[in-house]
Amino acid sequence: MTFDDFHFHPDIIDGIKTMGFEQPTPVQELAIPNIMQGKDIIACAQTGTGKTAAFVLPILNKLASLPVKLNYINTLIIVPTRELAIQIDQQVEGFAYFSPASSIPVYGGNDRDNWDRQRAAIESGVDFLIATPGRLLQHLQMGYVSLDRVEHLILDEADRMLDMGFNEDIMLIVKKLPKKRQTLMFSATMPKNIRELAKQILNNPVEISLSVSKPAENILQAAYLVDDQKKLALLTSLVEGKSNIQSAIVFASTKSEVKDIEKKLIRDKVSARGIHSDLDQQKREEVMRDFRNRKFQILVATDIVSRGIDIEDIDLVVNYDVPHDPEDYVHRIGRTARAQSDGVALTFINKKQKRSFEMIEKFIGSPIYKIPLPANL
Ligand code: AMP
Repeated sequence: MTFDDFHFHPDIIDGIKTMGFEQPTPVQELAIPNIMQGKDIIACAQTGTGKTAAFVLPILNKLASLPVKLNYINTLIIVPTRELAIQIDQQVEGFAYFSPASSIPVYGGNDRDNWDRQRAAIESGVDFLIATPGRLLQHLQMGYVSLDRVEHLILDEADRMLDMGFNEDIMLIVKKLPKKRQTLMFSATMPKNIRELAKQILNNPVEISLSVSKPAENILQAAYLVDDQKKLALLTSLVEGKSNIQSAIVFASTKSEVKDIEKKLIRDKVSARGIHSDLDQQKREEVMRDFRNRKFQILVATDIVSRGIDIEDIDLVVNYDVPHDPEDYVHRIGRTARAQSDGVALTFINKKQKRSFEMIEKFIGSPIYKIPLPANL
C-alpha cells in the first residue's frame, strides 16, 4: 500500500512528502480508510507506530477539501501530557504546511503569556485543539470555549490518561461535545477500564489491533533471582560509581515502593529521583526534564512513564519487581536501546514472582538468562 491509495488532497500529499514519509505504517493502513469513511475507531497502538499521522492525516484531508476555512474548533485531541500535546501539534503543523489548518497545544503551567495565547487561539476558533484534560477544563470554566461544533474527538494514550486519574475530567469534557461526532480512541493497552470508557463514548467502533509487541533485538535481557531484602543492595552495586551507566530507569509497581527506593538510593549517595502519580504535572515535568538533561543518574518510576514519551540514551532498565502484564515488561524494557543503540534490561525476581516471570518468557518466546548474585550478597 502507498499513500497514493488514500487519494488525499494535493496539499496533504505535499505535506506528507515534506515530512519525508514514503509508505504508510500498519496502523495507518488500517485506520486511515476507516476514519475517512467517518467510522469511530478503537485502536491498540503504541507510540512509535505512526498513530499520530493515522488520525491527523484523514482529518486534515477533510479540512483541505472544504471550500472555505472554518472558524470554529473542529477537532479536539485529548492527551495525558504536555509533551505529547506539543509533539502532536508539531506533526499537525508539519502536515498542514501547504494547507490553511491551524492548531494549538493547550497544557498547564503558570506562564501568563501562554495562557493568553491559548485563550486567543481558542476564541479565534482553531481547527485542532490539542489539550491535557485539566487545562482544558480550566479554559472551559472561563466560559469562552465553544465545543459545540466539534466533529472529531480523539483520545490519545487513553490507558495512560486513566492511569493518571483523568477519567472524570474526560467525561466532563465529553459532555460538552455534540453527540453526533466521530470519536477515535488510541491506547497502548486494552485493559477493562479502557473498554468501559470506549463503550461510553464510542459509537459502534471498528477495532484495530496491531500484532503483540516484541522487545527490540538489541536489548540484552537478563534477570536475578533475589529476595526482597537484598534488592536494594543489588541495585546499588549495579549502578554506584559506574561511568558507563549515565542514565538508568528503575521500575517499581507501586508509588510507595518508588518513594521508598528513591529515599534509600539517596541515603546510599546514589543520585536518584522518583516519579509517580502523587507528583503534580509540573513537578513530573521538572523531574523528566532534569533526567533528560542528565542532572541525575537514576529515575525511579511507576509504569506511567514506561509508555509514550521518548527518552533517548537510557543505558539500563531495572525491573525492581516482575511486571504483572507481559506487555508492561515489553514497554518497560523498550525504554532502553532506542534508535539503534544497545541497552541492558535487568529484572529482579523474588520467589513468589517466578511464575509471572515464566509467563513473560513465554510471551516473548525465549528464556532470559539468570545471572548469579554477586558473592557479597
Ligand atoms: P507516533 O507513533 O505517531 O508517535 O509516530 C512515531 C514517529 O514515526 C514520528 O516521529 C513520526 O514522524 C514517524 N512516522 C509516522 N508515520 C510514518 C511513516 N508513514 N513513515 C515514516 N515515519 C513515520
